[in-house]
Amino acid sequence: MSTAPPTQRRPDLDTLYCLNPDGSRNTIHTADVRGRYQVRKKLVWAVLVAIYLILPWVQVGGRQAILIDIQARHFYLFGHTFNAQDFYLAFFFLTGIGFGLIVVSALWGRIWCGFACPHTVFLEGFFRRIERWIDGPPAKQKELRAMPWNGAKVRKRVVKHGLYLAMSFVLAHTLLSWFVPARELGAIVTGSPAAHPTAFGFVLLATGLMYLNFSWFREQLCLIVCPYGRLQSVLYDRDTVQVTYDHTRGEPRGKYHAEGRGHCIDCYRCVAVCPTGIDIRNGSQMECVGCSNCVDACDEVMAKLGQPKGLIRYDSLNGIESGSRRFWRPRVFLYGVLLLVGLGVFTFAASRRTGFEASLLRMQGPLFEVQGEQVRNGLTLHLINKLPRKETFTLEVGVHDAGVPVPAECIVPVPESDGVLRVELDSLRDLRVPVFVLVPRDAVREGIEVRVVVRGGGEERVARAKFAGPLQR
Ligand code: SF4
Ligand code: SF4
Repeated sequence: MSTAPPTQRRPDLDTLYCLNPDGSRNTIHTADVRGRYQVRKKLVWAVLVAIYLILPWVQVGGRQAILIDIQARHFYLFGHTFNAQDFYLAFFFLTGIGFGLIVVSALWGRIWCGFACPHTVFLEGFFRRIERWIDGPPAKQKELRAMPWNGAKVRKRVVKHGLYLAMSFVLAHTLLSWFVPARELGAIVTGSPAAHPTAFGFVLLATGLMYLNFSWFREQLCLIVCPYGRLQSVLYDRDTVQVTYDHTRGEPRGKYHAEGRGHCIDCYRCVAVCPTGIDIRNGSQMECVGCSNCVDACDEVMAKLGQPKGLIRYDSLNGIESGSRRFWRPRVFLYGVLLLVGLGVFTFAASRRTGFEASLLRMQGPLFEVQGEQVRNGLTLHLINKLPRKETFTLEVGVHDAGVPVPAECIVPVPESDGVLRVELDSLRDLRVPVFVLVPRDAVREGIEVRVVVRGGGEERVARAKFAGPLQR
């Protein structure tokens, strides 16, 4: 009943199965599999693909729900707008997400890789399906690969790679719509490349990389390039639930009619369906991406044999060996606390974001000038509108000594109406407004300050700067 020819190389723990001993590529043709985890995976993939394709077209508060405008250094997130000054928030957000992934890995191994990683979703959900559709089942794929070039082979290759390219092209444009307004995508795509050289270059590069990755590089990305896979051995412990072979039940493995065999009939089916070509019966391995193909494949075999399912299942090493499973362990608490710290700081900082920023800076040049009986300071008000809309800000400039107003002449070259200074500022734009303040020489004291009260969007900020004068020398 074994599907492995005697001469076929068997996966081991010392070599990468996707490479031949001479270093050439050992192409893996994954066998088809059906089962409960395949259904669950496909449902998750459908939701994720829908999010990827549809979200750029969703509008919140008159803006694209998520838009990372790198050129303008603006980021729109569900009605909130962030600019370059808010970039520190990304650190806490990504730290939180990173530790979230680590908590998930400590609890359930590489469930992210098998069920949600974009590489898996697109490779298994689209590109392998195209291959199966054009080239046929794995045996036919191998046959086609081995056969000399003829008309039929050329036709199949042209159609398959044409579809790969078309799919990569669509995915690359969808990726672009996360960085440029999706509603402008049509005009960008149909316009001259010279009018949008960055977008054009981005799409060319993304299409090329996706095509190369999904048509050729494939599982090597998980095995050789992805750093997350390398981290697994330090994130796991004996209570981490992962795809595991129950050696207590399966061994000694043997052919169907073998005397005294365990439940594993060494049919090789779990290896045939593995996208990374490993044999999970050799134990937990870095190459396992937690796709659960082998779980469904072995369950199918067990069902045919009338033996209980779950010879390969989601379980921990402790669960397999002693039946005891611990969910809460010190590392889960530690990673969980770090996750909460990252997301907590992000939430706190994001909730304290203000609608605009105002700061008072000293102009370049001398600290002050004495003009007759007056001392003159030159300052610049730096105003940043972080609101998602154009806003009119009012300015009130004054000089104070320990909270008591000091007589001063303030010159601010902005429009004034009804005795109020006003500046209009587009969303996520900044403006520098010169502020000249003249204070009578005898009123200049240590500690007097210039204050600009800025009001707009229902908020008020006070920008301050010390008034410099002869007494401060
Ligand atoms: S673990 Fe299951 S699928 Fe794999 S060889 Fe044994 S019986 Fe076959
Ligand atoms: S060992 Fe099983 S779960 Fe791991 S990658 Fe292979 S088929 Fe997927």
